[in-house]
This record gives sequence, C-alpha cells and structure tokens, in this order.
Amino acid sequence: MKNKYLVIPIATAFFLASCAKHKIQEVPETQVAGNEYTHASDRAPTSSIDKENLEFMVQKLLDSNKPEEEFLKFLDDRKDIYLRAWSYVSLFDKEVLEAAEKNQEHNLNDSVPYKKLLALWNIAQRTEEKLTYFYVRLVQISYDKSEAKEKRDRAKKVRLSFKRALDSKNPVLQLAFQELRDHIAEELRELRGLSKTDGVVPTSIDVVATIRANRAKMIKDGFKGIDRVDEINNKVEAEAEKIQLENESGRVPNALTFEPGIGPTGNIMGKIFPKNVWALTYDDGPSPVTTPIILKNLETLGHKATFFWLAQHVLKNQTIVDDAKAKGMALANHSWSHAQLTKLDDAGLNKEILQSSDAEEKAYGHPIRFFRCPYGAGNSVSKIRGIIAKKNMIHAFWNVDTLDWQDKDPDSIVRRAQAQMKANGRGVVLFHDIHQQSVIASKKLLEWSNTFKGTPEEIRWVTLPEIVDEMNAGK
Ligand SMILES: [Zn+2]
Repeated sequence: MKNKYLVIPIATAFFLASCAKHKIQEVPETQVAGNEYTHASDRAPTSSIDKENLEFMVQKLLDSNKPEEEFLKFLDDRKDIYLRAWSYVSLFDKEVLEAAEKNQEHNLNDSVPYKKLLALWNIAQRTEEKLTYFYVRLVQISYDKSEAKEKRDRAKKVRLSFKRALDSKNPVLQLAFQELRDHIAEELRELRGLSKTDGVVPTSIDVVATIRANRAKMIKDGFKGIDRVDEINNKVEAEAEKIQLENESGRVPNALTFEPGIGPTGNIMGKIFPKNVWALTYDDGPSPVTTPIILKNLETLGHKATFFWLAQHVLKNQTIVDDAKAKGMALANHSWSHAQLTKLDDAGLNKEILQSSDAEEKAYGHPIRFFRCPYGAGNSVSKIRGIIAKKNMIHAFWNVDTLDWQDKDPDSIVRRAQAQMKANGRGVVLFHDIHQQSVIASKKLLEWSNTFKGTPEEIRWVTLPEIVDEMNAGK
C-alpha cells in the first residue's frame, strides 16, 4: 500500500486538469467552404432517436415565430432533469445508508427512488442526443451556402444564444450542461475531421468544489426550481412504472449453474455470489479519453474488471480493445448505440443485440458471453431476453449502482458504493468508463478494498466469466 497516499493527489490533479471541459470551439468562417461539412443524413446513425424526426423538429423550430425560445426550452429540460435527479439521488442515498447501518440487503427492485433515477437517466440521455443533434445542425445550416441567407442568419442567431446558455457562469448550470458541452464539442471536432480528443481545452470549473458548495441548493432546487415540474414528474412516473428488474432471489439456493436463457439462471445480479466476491463492471465505453486511464489503474492495483461496451465505440477504438484484452479484462456487449431496447422493433433489436455482438466478436476476437441492456431496460422482457439467450449470452445486471452518471463528486460516489457493498455483501458494481469522476471514484474504491487484504473481510474482485465458470464448476 506504499502508494496509497501518493496516488490520490495525482488522480485529483488529473481530474482537475482534464475535467475539463472541452470548450466548444466555434469554427472560424474562413475554414468553412462549400460542402466541407458532411450532411447529417450522410453520417452513420449513432443514436436511438430517429434522425428523420429530429431533422423535422429542427426545421420546424427554425421556422417558428420565436426559434431562439423554442430551442432554449429543450436546454431548460436538460437542467430540470439534472436538478430533479438530485432529489432522487438524496432519497436513494438515505435508503442505502439505512440498509448498511442495519446490515440489511438493499434491493434495487424495491427502491422507488432508484426506478425514478433509471427513468430520469434514460430521459437525460435522450435529451442530450436531441440537443447535440440540434446544435450540430444549427452549425451546419449556418455555414451551408445552399441554404437561403435568411435561414442561415436565423440558424446562426439561435446557435449563438444556445452557446451563451451552454457557457453560463451559473455553477449549477455548468454542472447540468457539463457532459452535453463535451458531447457537442466531440461531435463538432469529428465534423471537422479531427479526433474526439484533439484540441481539448480545459475549462476553469472546479467540479468537485462546485458540487460540494451547491449540493444543498441543487437538492432543494430539485424539488422547487423546475420550470415545468408537473410535465417532468409525469414523464418520470410513466417511465418508472414500466421498470421491472429481474430478481435472483427466486432461485433455488443450490442450483448454481448460470446459462443463457430467459429465466433467472440467464441473468446475473451477483446476489448469489460467494460472500465478499465482487465483480467490477464498466459500461458505455470505450472512451479514448477515460478508458485507457481506467485500464492503467486496474493494472497498477492488480485487479480485473468486465467492460460492457457499445459497438459504435468499439469499432473506433481497436487499440483500447487490444490493450484491455492484453491486461486480462473481460469484454462484453452493451448494444450498438445505447438504445432503449423496449422501444425498438425487430430490425432495431437485431441491430442493437445481434449485429453489435457480431461486430464486437470480430474486434474482441472471441465469442461474447455477456450482454447488458442499456439502462437495464428489457431485462425482464421475454422477447429481448430470448434474443440475448439465443445468441448464447447471459444477461448481466448489477446490485450496486454508483450513480456515477449523475454525481460528479468521486468521494460521494465511493461512499454510495461502500454503503451498498456493506448492505449486500457480494455482487456486481456498476460504473461507467466514460466519465472523469468514474476514473477517480473506481480507483479510490479499489484502493479502499485493498485495505481489507489478509482480514476476514477481504474483498475478492472477479470478472464475470471467471465467477460464472467457478460457480458452474461447483467450486
Ligand atoms: Zn449504459
């Protein structure tokens, strides 16, 4: 443990230096000539939202009487979702701490705030996809010489007010828009033929300090400061009601075989793992910015994890795939584009579950044994589970959620994970290898777990294939 106190400041320095937010760089007018930008419809679909509908919305909003107001309303939605989620995070944390204090299992399927968080997460991601598309199209239209001058001017005006709102000095808004700004910046860099990490300019915001200073206000605002509170509550209620998480507790205690199938044996949550055995899992990558650091941290600390990646990112990051494999990590599938599977037709399910697996099998160089539904949505739907099972994959859920997609404070993410680990005693921990806070938090959690070495509470980290093979062999 000699480096225990050394690594934290380095990690923090990394976090502050790179957290970074990629300032959105406007394209100088002189660089843009003619058709330098690829038209949106020529680009490969990267989202679960129908691009045709989005394009229709852009044109309709631009033609409206007050286009600036119309576009900014969507940005306001993003802020409302962020604030609303904080109120459920605080309820969830309370629940988790109580369970840990009483040494009682914390069951995600019984948690109302958790289901609302899953719903909000889904809504947040779709709103971000929509806003990113809007912004990129406004840039394209304002530089597109084939568009009427009046329309280009209108698009430019809307884009500039959009940008002003995104660059707000209000710390709560900075936090709410942090990842949206990154996504837009990444898309614009890609549009200009640059790599996603080219010219990343750190912003001055100290995220951790800002969260600590604003947390109480954010939670209060989560209830009060939302402009269209009923609208968002209704949306969340409707989404949350549909969420049904598979429950392993109905399994016969000694029937330990995990195998592909639509019943409980085809779904892993970790609840029947041996005591103090934990699988660390990361979703949504690989990211060229954060995944390589996570891999290095895992190697340094001597642990292995399971990565549930998106085919759309895997295809662009073969070097990271090869590095993860060389370091002994387990690689699994998390769909093509993070679509909500419960909303897709047969063609959509085919692409998100089967084609993504085929593409990843080529990149990974081996068959894929585990699949995780985006947002966990679909894990109790027989049709979806049937397709996963037919492809010979086991579905993988989790019983510890770090909420690292909403919470940007690594220490609070670690505390949330520790409380759930204490309450549950074994299981599967969910992180995302695309967020900077997750890099720091997962490293701190592993360092903390290493302090139990040689004690009766020693924590053993495993990959999913490792533990499944062990349990199936009856070890
Ligand atoms: Zn995901």
